[in-house]
Amino acid sequence: MSDIGEKAILRHIRSRIPSWGVGLVLGVGDDAAVVETGPRTLVTTDSLVEGIDFRSEWTPPTLLGRRVLTINASDIAAMGGVPRHATVSLCLRPDVTFGFVDAFYDGLLERCAELGINLIGGNLSATHGSIVIDVTLIGEAHECLLRSGALAGDCVAVTGTLGAAAAGARLLTQGARLNAEGGLSSTGLWTESSSAAVLHCLRANLDPAPPLTVARSLAERGFVHAAIDLSDGLSGDLMALCAESNLSAWIDPERIPLNQHAVNLERARGGDALALALHGGDDYQLLVAVPAEKVEDAVAEAMMWDVKLTCIGGFEAGEPLVSLKMDQTLTALSCVTQDHFKGVKRPG
Ligand SMILES: [Mg+2]
Repeated sequence: MSDIGEKAILRHIRSRIPSWGVGLVLGVGDDAAVVETGPRTLVTTDSLVEGIDFRSEWTPPTLLGRRVLTINASDIAAMGGVPRHATVSLCLRPDVTFGFVDAFYDGLLERCAELGINLIGGNLSATHGSIVIDVTLIGEAHECLLRSGALAGDCVAVTGTLGAAAAGARLLTQGARLNAEGGLSSTGLWTESSSAAVLHCLRANLDPAPPLTVARSLAERGFVHAAIDLSDGLSGDLMALCAESNLSAWIDPERIPLNQHAVNLERARGGDALALALHGGDDYQLLVAVPAEKVEDAVAEAMMWDVKLTCIGGFEAGEPLVSLKMDQTLTALSCVTQDHFKGVKRPG
């Protein structure tokens, strides 16, 4: 990077960014971009720090570019919004190669095109420490879906299946890798029969595919009261929803939709896919509060978007607390939350 220089890199990046898009008045190049958004403007930001949120040796830069946009889009979707405009800020060590930056933008721009997001600006700076990638995403909504809207009697429901991303994280620690094309790098960690499951779980971790439309659709029809996206894990994110709505919640572990690939891989090693689903995190599925009388409608509506919605428990009046319900007996669940300053993930 130090050979090429900042100005030349910025010129190259700018040449790759489309200058038109929905709601885009003026894109990259001036002191600020000019955009138009809808009745409500949503703003979210998330950063990926090398060594904390990602490891360079585990993550092809193309997938890093895709992922940082996806996790921000997941937050906008969980608010019932549509992602529209993004800025990206990169802090890079001088020894980072130009190829890394170009591949990062390959992934970022590919994901922008898939999601209809305009890349409207950014910043490039140097660091002597870890690489830092920061994305701010602007979205729009007619009605916003909040964490605080759940009511006693609502069902706890989740989209998709859970546990694959956490299984992927474990595989990465064991040496499994994706190549730049998103295929399996061969390190001999798996048998032929398990390679599909390994690939699925690695992709779930490194290139998540959250449902980005269904929350908005459910909100517009009055089929959900509250939503959060599952980044920390079911236990921690349900607790966050309970805290904001001032309710307690129970879940039936037998109803949790476990990812079948994660189940198979965990079974083979004597592990527990339920623990991955409860505490693993990074699934980027949605956790929603559905009025009890609207559950069938909500499930059918989600199916229209090709999304499986599963009712796994309920909200009740009471102090914020999450419990597992087995044979009509409630057991308080120790919830796992993300805490960057006390360790990456810990019971809280
Ligand atoms: Mg979130």
